[in-house]
Amino acid sequence: AGGADHPDVTDGIHLVVDALKLNGVETIYGVVGIPITDLARVAQGAGIRYIGFRHESNAGHAAAAAGFLTKKPGICLTVSAPGFLNGLVGLANATTNCFPMVQISGSSERHLVDLQRGDYEEMDQLAAAKHFAKAAYRVHRAEDIGRGLARAIRTAVSGRPGGVYLDIPAAVLGEVMDAEKGAASLWPVVDPAPSQLPDREAVDRAIGLLANAKRPLVVLGKGAAYAQADEQIREFIETTGIPYLPMSMAKGLLPDDHAASAATARSLALRKADVVMLVGARLNWLLGHGEAPQWNPEAKFIQVDIAASEMDSNQPIAAPLVGDVGSVMEALTERNKAGAITVPAEWREELDARAKQNVEKMAGRLEAAASAHPMKFLGALQAVRDVLQEHPQAYVVNEGANALDLARNTIGMQAPRRRLDSGTWGVMGIGMGYAIAAAVETGAPIVAIEGDSAFGFSGMEVETICRYKLPIVTVVLNNSGVYRGNEASPSSDPAPTALTANHDVMIKAFGGKGYQATTPDEVATHLREALASGTSALIDCVIDPSDGTESGNISHLNPKGITIKQ
Ligand code: ADP
Repeated sequence: AGGADHPDVTDGIHLVVDALKLNGVETIYGVVGIPITDLARVAQGAGIRYIGFRHESNAGHAAAAAGFLTKKPGICLTVSAPGFLNGLVGLANATTNCFPMVQISGSSERHLVDLQRGDYEEMDQLAAAKHFAKAAYRVHRAEDIGRGLARAIRTAVSGRPGGVYLDIPAAVLGEVMDAEKGAASLWPVVDPAPSQLPDREAVDRAIGLLANAKRPLVVLGKGAAYAQADEQIREFIETTGIPYLPMSMAKGLLPDDHAASAATARSLALRKADVVMLVGARLNWLLGHGEAPQWNPEAKFIQVDIAASEMDSNQPIAAPLVGDVGSVMEALTERNKAGAITVPAEWREELDARAKQNVEKMAGRLEAAASAHPMKFLGALQAVRDVLQEHPQAYVVNEGANALDLARNTIGMQAPRRRLDSGTWGVMGIGMGYAIAAAVETGAPIVAIEGDSAFGFSGMEVETICRYKLPIVTVVLNNSGVYRGNEASPSSDPAPTALTANHDVMIKAFGGKGYQATTPDEVATHLREALASGTSALIDCVIDPSDGTESGNISHLNPKGITIKQ
């Protein structure tokens, strides 16, 4: 507290920093300005790493990704009103994805804001945040800072994780108080996310269903990845032999080439499975809400989730297993010791036969793309895949429409939590924020595979990447447009979907290494070089503007009406 000149007193800013340190916070992602600039300075001086962004939504996304990777809330720091609102995008996205984070925002004077007298950056931020966060709190007195942070941290990580907003008005940050009293007002949160054990009856109910299944299936979601229960999941899958499908961010929880993976027979697995166990995966739009014809209308569902209210949100859940993934999977393995669960050989064989067919079909497409000129998405992605196989510990960040769909299917993951993508919202703009957090939190090399449109939402953070010298290689799959780059315009302006950029030139302005690639060989050579050197780099991959599907795999979500698309 206090500092050398005033050993007996402290203030709100120092108390925030002391409370963060006491709770093990190592990094803050933010954008400085009134009234939080000194907070960032004091934090940095106290040994907390401060990563300064160019736009708050990217800082928010970084904090969210840090939460997913570490199981501790990522911290985002924003200024009042507009900065707060920008950061709120990250907070809302974190909440939607069940990632723990805390957005701490400075705010303007309450006595002016609440009478709407027109203050600098006036806004009732607490009221706004409530709609988009798991919870929102405001601190009114410096002596409540420790309490406020404790509440924010525990709320963010316990139960279903999510984003928590903590509002600290400028006056509270500047409030001076006795140093000893201040120190006594802070505490570290004990066991912020306690394990939650399932009921024994509930476990046996699930085992009963699986034991009688002819075509059982496990679906692993990003909640399973988040839970860091890799061993318990592997043991259950391997002792029972139940085929599993990984959702995109659960890829690598078991290596993608695992014998029990049904990923290459996905449609068949969903259509035919008669008992499905969801593990940290919601039956939302990403799984077609569990509806026929995508799913077997007779399927019975088992759901492993920490949030009891998730059960029955889309389909009747015959066997709810409320608890944390680690505890539930361990209990399942334990109660199945006698080997009640067996997988009929015909089911495995049916899946394997379909997988073989699908892989052969895909091989033809991949081969054609490898030699196509101009380069296709799949040509560039095969090169990225080959180089990533040499770096199994690298993290992959992925967003875009076609860039997301095609990379997800082309690039296998070998290790858990190495893939971060658009997630539950299918949002664009998470790219550079997620990549920065992955680099900062893990020290590992990062490859961000970006559609050219998706990249634009956070592209200015390339400067942040270069400023902190982060080992991030951004691979922009540049087909000169949103979805495609060859749409004719009915006016003298470019078409609504058109884009133009040489992104490799952009990173050079910030001191990074820029490459352009027009063939898969060039993609591989540049990526190999960039990863070996550990520099901040960007490879602009020139993709055939006619390659790309409107909205990728989800074009059915576009309204039909009478609009005629190009
Ligand atoms: P995906 O998009 O990969 O299918 P979702 O985000 O839909 O995954 O689902 C994640 C689910 O995991 C959420 O319903 C969340 O409540 C749950 N969850 C998060 N952490 C845990 C945990 N530690 N134990 C059990 N369930 C968890």
